[in-house]
Amino acid sequence: MDHASSPAPVRPDPAQIARAQRRMVLLAGLSLGLGLLKLGIESLSGPLPSGMASVMMLAQIGAWAGLTWSVWGLVSASGQTRASAFVHAILMLVPLVNLAVLVAADLRAVRVLRDMGVKAGLLGVRNQELVRLAAAACPGCGFNCRGVGESNCPECGKGLNGARRAA
Ligand SMILES: [Zn+2]
Repeated sequence: MDHASSPAPVRPDPAQIARAQRRMVLLAGLSLGLGLLKLGIESLSGPLPSGMASVMMLAQIGAWAGLTWSVWGLVSASGQTRASAFVHAILMLVPLVNLAVLVAADLRAVRVLRDMGVKAGLLGVRNQELVRLAAAACPGCGFNCRGVGESNCPECGKGLNGARRAA
């Protein structure tokens, strides 16, 4: 009767983690790219004209806001609590600390994915692997049913087709 009082923790969905990680890596690259572009232009032709500088600043703020949001998404998808995701998002506003937060969130995602048998690297999961994950997902709840020998999803009980089980 014990398990009735302690609900099973929500199992992280590898496809969701993989997508969140890709989004984060992409936005980190975009953010870095914008910073380098600004530095490059300034070193070649001096300070940017004010109009262009504002556009550039807005683009950087946008990329950084997106990055903070994607860190939140990745931390939540990796099975951490809302409070933890919130702390990560706040720390993304602190210069230098935010880089450590990015790397830590990335490393954790890689570890969680590898624990689930997904080939993952710091720059994310390859397309091929994403397609494989999507194919193995339960049509009902998205649970990764790869290697499940039954004809129904162990999480929600929805019927699986053979292709999904074999994926
Ligand atoms: Zn299911």
